[in-house]
Amino acid sequence: MIDFSFSEEQELFREAIKEWLTRNLPMERVRENDEKHELGKDIIKGLGDLGLLCMTLPEEHGGAEADWVTTTIAAEELGYADISVALPVFFLVQASWGYVVDKYCTDVVRDICLRKAARGEAFIGIGVTEPGGGSDVAGFKTTLTRGDGHWILNGEKTYISGTAECQEMGGGYFVTGYSDRSKGHRGMTAIYLPFDTPGVEVTRRFDNYGRMAISTGGFMMTDVEIPDEYQLGETGRGFYLTMEGFDAARVLVSASCVGASERAMKIGIDNIKERQAFGQPLAKYQGIQFDLADMTAHHEAIKSLIYKTAWMMDQKYQHETFSALEVAKYISMCKYLAPHHALDTFRRTMLWMGAYGYTKECPLEMGIRGVMSYCIGAEGAANIQKIVIAREALGREWTRTR
Ligand SMILES: Cc1cc2nc3c(=O)[nH]c(=O)nc-3n(C[C@H](O)[C@H](O)[C@H](O)COP(=O)(O)OP(=O)(O)OC[C@H]3O[C@@H](n4cnc5c(N)ncnc54)[C@H](O)[C@@H]3O)c2cc1C
Repeated sequence: MIDFSFSEEQELFREAIKEWLTRNLPMERVRENDEKHELGKDIIKGLGDLGLLCMTLPEEHGGAEADWVTTTIAAEELGYADISVALPVFFLVQASWGYVVDKYCTDVVRDICLRKAARGEAFIGIGVTEPGGGSDVAGFKTTLTRGDGHWILNGEKTYISGTAECQEMGGGYFVTGYSDRSKGHRGMTAIYLPFDTPGVEVTRRFDNYGRMAISTGGFMMTDVEIPDEYQLGETGRGFYLTMEGFDAARVLVSASCVGASERAMKIGIDNIKERQAFGQPLAKYQGIQFDLADMTAHHEAIKSLIYKTAWMMDQKYQHETFSALEVAKYISMCKYLAPHHALDTFRRTMLWMGAYGYTKECPLEMGIRGVMSYCIGAEGAANIQKIVIAREALGREWTRTR
């Protein structure tokens, strides 16, 4: 039997977040955050109090033990409220990478970072991209060499979300490096890197043009000593842990984009009902209606795909009814479609606004700048999603070899 409804608990959860965000994060505040380049301590504390930060962690580790469908609801609502997607980034990076760190870490890491991150008192992020490129994870240069009871980490990471927040709040990053390069991607190992460890130096903050309220930066790691108890999972499993984190993050990215595009449509619809041209509201013209119909149809199709995928993730983790690769195909379809759908929705609804849509008085430009980050590549570029989809559609023997 197929049931497309949310549980009563999930509906109440959505209403509670919606109500909190309507009160605390109106569009004027989103604009203020965008201009001030900060999320605001009150908002971060509020998310912590609501139980939204690191909500996928078990309760005994400080989380809300939320399933992926429920977490996806939160990501969608945050995207609806903050169309610049800055707050969704802060939320989803920690929900997904916090989940993976918690799954494979020791209690020490939980105590120094995760419990605090769940209260909004620390930040847990993902630091994999390197100056040589982000898509080719196995081609990274960062190394982990053995010391006495610790790893020695050397390398550079760049275009990393939340570096300024992590410096300010404390916390750290999921980082991978080669512990044995001769083994290819099976020679990568993952560690938790506390950001205040000696040898870690923040090299820059990028002057991005979107999602201004959260930072993107880079950092060097020079002979950084990482105690063995900060290792995540087994030696040589770093690549697989990275893919597990990306899978989780990509569903939540997609949901945030769908939330943001839903808000764009709402703003656009309000406008076309109001705005008169040639003696009638714009909404009366079929040229406008067909545009709306097209957006609505794509929106519903992509939203359904996202919730189906979140449901598949729950099935995979709770009952092992789907393999990781089966779910990965759906996840990549979401991440491929949702950011571009959001970008297209912002572009089209901005056109409905006429000249007003070209001003900063109209909020839509924050959305177009924000979701562009996910079209370009944050949490994985579009072509990489297509590679995963095609690999699963064709069979692994058709994967391009190096
Ligand atoms: C705002 C922002 C925040 C980010 N935050 C983080 C973060 O927190 N942590 C982190 O680790 N990274 C982060 N990233 C980096 C992101 O993960 C990378 O941008 C992404 O993985 C792509 O890597 P790249 O930018 O080096 O592009 P490249 O890998 O150099 O790719 C460039 C282009 O080539 C295409 N391409 C690459 N390989 C192929 C192929 N085989 N076939 C066809 N086309 C291909 C890609 O689709 C892309 O269009 C962030 C990026 C942005 C923009």
